[in-house]
Amino acid sequence: MERLTVVVPCYNEEEALPIFYNTIVEVAKQLPDLDFEFLFVNDGSKDKTLEIMRELHKKDQRVRYVSFSRNFGKEAGILAGLKSASGDMVTLMDVDLQDPPSLLPQMVALMKEKKVHHVATRRATRKGEPVLRSFFARLFYKFINKISKTEIVDGARDYRLMSRAMVDAILSLSEVNRFSKGIFGWVGFETEWISFDNVERSAGVTKWSFWSLLMYSLDGITAFSTAPLAIASFMGFLFCGVSFLAIIIIITRHFMGVESAFGWASMVVSLFFLGGIQLLCMGILGQYLSKTYLETKHRPVFIVEETEKDI
Ligand code: UDP
Ligand code: MG
Repeated sequence: MERLTVVVPCYNEEEALPIFYNTIVEVAKQLPDLDFEFLFVNDGSKDKTLEIMRELHKKDQRVRYVSFSRNFGKEAGILAGLKSASGDMVTLMDVDLQDPPSLLPQMVALMKEKKVHHVATRRATRKGEPVLRSFFARLFYKFINKISKTEIVDGARDYRLMSRAMVDAILSLSEVNRFSKGIFGWVGFETEWISFDNVERSAGVTKWSFWSLLMYSLDGITAFSTAPLAIASFMGFLFCGVSFLAIIIIITRHFMGVESAFGWASMVVSLFFLGGIQLLCMGILGQYLSKTYLETKHRPVFIVEETEKDI
């Protein structure tokens, strides 16, 4: 029998986890030809999430879990899940039912029918999401797709169904700064897409603040494009050209006998402007340098403190 692993990263999800478990068990009944493995990743929760996972494992042997020594972030949770999944197919979903488990039978059917390695989902709408958040999210996708060769689909969820071959491909990427939305695209494989309407969280609250999303998007940009680095060279060329012109104008004016003592304000402004550009370019360089620094440390992406084998 083919095995399907359901990987679910959880951070402070004591309310959503039991609801999720009940839902996924029902969905599993609709797929009797598959041997299910429910793999929960506890991303350093401070509430009763881990206790619930232990209980679920005692009750249902299909439940496995990996518990981190602290919060490492959702990307680390995804990696840990994919690493310890034993399935021939692996699906990835959020615990809050915003990735509707009811789509799973359709995804499995599509994978078999079209013989693809990857079935992905996207939200058709962003309804129910704060307006400002949607606006910046759209802006981010426009920008990153302009500057990156890897396609990063707007509205795409991390909710995927992947074959073993694709999971192994993802695991072969050794980078520490992991931006899954980019990695899924980067590894390639023909992909079938399913759209669904935005669903509100089943219980609990979102773990993403505006700030953490902003930082996440910067990680995405540095991980999948080096275009911002080119800004520095471009600006350098531009300002060299402009100052060359200015020199010619000043010399000509001198020989034409036009002497001037005014123009202080414009001089100060242009100095500030250039200073700003220089700092900006140095900042961009710094972003990439810091990422390189973190990569060269080769620190593990996560530390496991406990799994179901420990109890
Ligand atoms: N999550 C995680 N670690 C974190 C933050 C979130 O494992 O540091 C999990 C969370 O438990 C949930 C999923 O990632 O299963 C998506 O999080 P959330 O629903 O808060 O994000 P949103 O849907 O609001 O983007
Ligand atoms: Mg959510």
